Amino acid sequence: MIRRLVAALVCVALLPAHGQGLPDLGDASDSVLSDKQERTIGNRVMRDVRIDPAFVDDPEITDYVKSLGNRLLGAADPPRRPIEFFVVRDDSINAFALIGGHVGIHTGLIVLTQNESELAGVVAHEIGHVLQRHQARLYQQMGKYQLASLAALALAVLASRGSSSQSDQVTQAAMVGASAIMMQGELDYTREHEREADRVGLTLLERAGYDPRGMVTFFERMQRANRLNEFKSAPSYLRTHPLTVERIADMQSRVEMMTPRLVPDSFAYRLARAKLRAETGSATDAAAYFRDQLAARTVVRPRELVYGLALSLERSRDFADADRELSAIRGGESDHPAFEWLAARLQSDMRRPDAAVAIYRAALKKYPDYRGLVYGLALALLDAGRTKEAVAWLEERVRASPEDARLYELQSRAYAATGDMLAQHRAQAEAYFRRGNLAAAVDQLELATKVRGGNDYSMAMAEARLRELRSQLAIERDAEKALKLG
Ligand SMILES: [Zn+2]
Repeated sequence: MIRRLVAALVCVALLPAHGQGLPDLGDASDSVLSDKQERTIGNRVMRDVRIDPAFVDDPEITDYVKSLGNRLLGAADPPRRPIEFFVVRDDSINAFALIGGHVGIHTGLIVLTQNESELAGVVAHEIGHVLQRHQARLYQQMGKYQLASLAALALAVLASRGSSSQSDQVTQAAMVGASAIMMQGELDYTREHEREADRVGLTLLERAGYDPRGMVTFFERMQRANRLNEFKSAPSYLRTHPLTVERIADMQSRVEMMTPRLVPDSFAYRLARAKLRAETGSATDAAAYFRDQLAARTVVRPRELVYGLALSLERSRDFADADRELSAIRGGESDHPAFEWLAARLQSDMRRPDAAVAIYRAALKKYPDYRGLVYGLALALLDAGRTKEAVAWLEERVRASPEDARLYELQSRAYAATGDMLAQHRAQAEAYFRRGNLAAAVDQLELATKVRGGNDYSMAMAEARLRELRSQLAIERDAEKALKLG
């Protein structure tokens, strides 16, 4: 399902960024999608993406990808458009840009890059598509017929993802339409778009301090692998970003004018890649992979490989072995919050929640804002039946990071454990609100206001918040209706 979704989303990315776009097109010349309308479409799509099981919500992975993306984006000339970077669990090599400033990166891409500059190169290329507003330019060159088909496609994709799920046939039909559109309308522009995205991407890559050669080596490897049919997964990227000999030659000549530099991979990159590798394939194969890698390094045992091995062993439920491997890299010089997080999780795995809590408390003194530790402590406290402590901890953290959806989700669980249903629904509403799902937030607040015998002040707060979010929802629905997003 997710594979089809992502394929569909890539097509949605081709939606007009300028021009009113969706049905009732009227005259193309006077139809211009505002930034706000573009965001409305993007948010509507992201609402579905965020609840898909393949959407990666691991703070260790997402925080890394966000920092990489924002470092590249920060190297662009102002005015810059904000971009949301997110990760999709999918072994194929792919990255894609969605309308409204969202860039998705497959886990397979992260695992298969050989260094951080390669990963940064692919992400920089996607940022190039967004900054150059390629969807907008595509729109300007498109006639009414194609636009109407694109609009139908968007509706079908959105409808098929919505709760009022339509038949699969609708999506299938839309997909056929989409590939037809790509064949007749898109090919002519795409090479130019690709060249531009390469040019912008290379500039960002160099300015942000990565090795510009990373982009060329990665694309060369993709092309070679595709020719030799080495990995089945390469074509998904190549289908949406056609790779030609000229494109690579272009990149090479640009890179020759830039200063090559050896950029060591950040530890965050090495950790993220090891973690995703440990989660790929069977747990046994993953453990064997890390054992092989470690056997080849007799002098220095890279910490991320030991970490990857411990994670693989956790997956195969060899908790004691995992803990033993991990102990070699904990504490002292080589310390890292990711290792403490895993050490604590292993205690939870072994049904020792109090020991887990102790590790979390100690680690948080040193790394107070590491999200894995923050959430982990709340879970371990709930696990240990220490609900009062969990509630207090989460209230403290919500005050410090009031925009963090995950904290409200945990808070909702903690309140449920204390039997405070009013607070439970209020917290769940705040979580939905921050995940961009206003309708679900309103539902939760309606449930909250029906709870009997709650605290008067809390009830008044729930009612006020319900009024506020209902009016926001009405505005959002009007905006979506105007765009025929249903
Ligand atoms: Zn591209």
